[in-house]
Amino acid sequence: MSSADAPDQEPAPPEAEERPAVRLLVDEEAVQGRVAELGAELRADYQGVEPVLVSVLRGGVVFLADLVRAAAMPCLVDFMAISRFDASKETGVVRIEKDLELDLSGAHVLVVEDIVDTGLTLTYLLRVLAARGPVSLRVCALLDRRARRIVDVPLSYVGFEVPDVFLVGYGLDLDERERGRRELLAVDDLEAVRADPTLLDLPTRADDAWRPSRA
Ligand code: 5GP
Ligand code: MG
Repeated sequence: MSSADAPDQEPAPPEAEERPAVRLLVDEEAVQGRVAELGAELRADYQGVEPVLVSVLRGGVVFLADLVRAAAMPCLVDFMAISRFDASKETGVVRIEKDLELDLSGAHVLVVEDIVDTGLTLTYLLRVLAARGPVSLRVCALLDRRARRIVDVPLSYVGFEVPDVFLVGYGLDLDERERGRRELLAVDDLEAVRADPTLLDLPTRADDAWRPSRA
């Protein structure tokens, strides 16, 4: 029998659509646009006072560096380093590895955070800072991942609300690396990226990215 008589071969099922290991979540232009807006808001809100901007090492440093330039206002900057006491327990109790050098009594304090996730670290930190007698204590977070919040913590300024996926870039690390990337990447498959970090090298412009409103 000739092969012509054979029933038509079923077309091969389309390849199961592969989920990319990494997606571009916020591109550089969108990050910079939003940081410029936050800076302008801070400049307006802190007119006539010289706030102390407190940055939590290490993730928040890239955001802080751009934010102070965007705000272009009189302010002081100081740094803290903290580590979770017991990473296995989500208690939020942290050890202060490096304390601030500035005195916060009578100061307007703005904590500048990269991302607020469970809110446990920040809640603990705010309690510590509040005990030092600032006249005001607010938080400016670039990223807010509300889906994972355990403790409600008031955020006065937020750059972007982000989904529950591991983020890398713009200060956020992947095993202490990649903090210098100008965009924010969502890593859906950490093991794939650990095996092949070039997966992070995506086109750096997102067509559907959020853009700052231009007045
Ligand atoms: P939490 O709010 O759960 O107490 O802790 C937030 C801290 O965990 C952030 O300041 C940041 O250092 C780290 N973190 C949370 N989410 C991410 C993420 O998606 N990527 C990276 N690299 N760090 C994160
Ligand atoms: Mg942080």
